[in-house]
Amino acid sequence: MRDETKCLHSGYQPQNGAPSVMPICQSTTYRFDSTEHIGELFDMPTAHMYSRFSNPTVEAVEKKIADLEGGVGAMCTSSGQAASLISVLNLCSAGDSFVSTSTIYGGTVNLFAVTLKRFGIECIFVDADADEEAISRAIKPNTRCVFGETIANPALAVLDIEKLARVAHAHGLPLIIDNTFATPILCKPFDFGADIVVHSTTKYMDGHALQVGGVIVDSGRFDWKNGNFPEFTEPDESYHGVVYTCDAIGKAAYITKARMQLMRDFGAYPAAHSAFLLNLGLETLPLRMERYCQNGLAVAKAFQASDKIESVRYSALEGDPYYALAQKYLPKGSCGVVSVVISGGKQNAVRFMDGLKLASNEVHVADIRTCVLHPASATHRQLTDEQLVAAGVNPGLIRFSTGLENIDDILEDIDQSLRRV
Ligand SMILES: *Cc1c(COP(=O)(O)O)cnc(C)c1O
Repeated sequence: MRDETKCLHSGYQPQNGAPSVMPICQSTTYRFDSTEHIGELFDMPTAHMYSRFSNPTVEAVEKKIADLEGGVGAMCTSSGQAASLISVLNLCSAGDSFVSTSTIYGGTVNLFAVTLKRFGIECIFVDADADEEAISRAIKPNTRCVFGETIANPALAVLDIEKLARVAHAHGLPLIIDNTFATPILCKPFDFGADIVVHSTTKYMDGHALQVGGVIVDSGRFDWKNGNFPEFTEPDESYHGVVYTCDAIGKAAYITKARMQLMRDFGAYPAAHSAFLLNLGLETLPLRMERYCQNGLAVAKAFQASDKIESVRYSALEGDPYYALAQKYLPKGSCGVVSVVISGGKQNAVRFMDGLKLASNEVHVADIRTCVLHPASATHRQLTDEQLVAAGVNPGLIRFSTGLENIDDILEDIDQSLRRV
């Protein structure tokens, strides 16, 4: 199946007389005929037993997203932050380190630099545009994985995924990619060597601003038996000696371990109703991404043509520093998010934002309705000036998230507000 078809048919195939639409299994628990059967599930969960870590409705969405990314398994989480957190904790313990590019979502910077540090896990930030040798130098004997973002939010830098994969694999480490802005419709990181993909499904995948969620996808390709990951190859005492790389688990060792250990213990699992709504968003994702890319490019060109603008960043624009990488990794388009610096600094940026009538000023991005945000005073507020520069955030930068309104209405709104700056 191609992506459009997968979005409608993967994950749930109704049998004769079954509901055409995946039903909401609103049940915390599941009934079994024998005590012995339940006992066996505590050794190896081969069926749903408790909705803190698996549920049939959520599972259908997990299968659909795994299929879209070309992976062997996926696990939904209650937010994108939970997905990023669990993706790293599945590999790192206190005393370990991991490497991340510095141009990543502000919330992830805080999670990695501040909160994980409190738990004894060190994040070493590297410049994504540095050469392979420079990135390699950041890797230490206790480094367990490498992390990056396909299209960095909000700097809109496009990541050279193949380069990062080469560095990670040369050190026997897996590469985790946050693919939120691109979605599997615009880029499939597994095709370029990534091993694990995470998403905030809150953004384009849901697309309708209905529910916060995340997902982790396992490519099934990383060799966990390479000697660096004893917790995959040695028995897990909390599961009666399960070995995650054993034949019984199959290829999706990483996602099985994440579910059996971390989701079991943390319980950051979405409700069935949330998964049902996410599935509705996924059904139209390819159509919507196509239009976001068209509208985003039109908005980027309009900003570029204005004399009230200091700079505009959109990787599908010729002349953008990431144009060449976008041609390779995002041939279908660069999504609907445009970064723009209005001339005259923060004051004019705020004036422009407050003058918009159609676009809403809100803490959201990658949504069906056009919205704007000033990262330096919102999502990236906790960062120091130094971290702001490293994350590619100019104090006058506006993140313009182009929606699916008629493009002429969006452009007229931009025009009327720019004229007042
Ligand atoms: C929003 C976002 C997150 C965090 O996701 P939530 O669903 O808000 O927890 C992570 N990464 C990227 C790229 C994001 O845009």
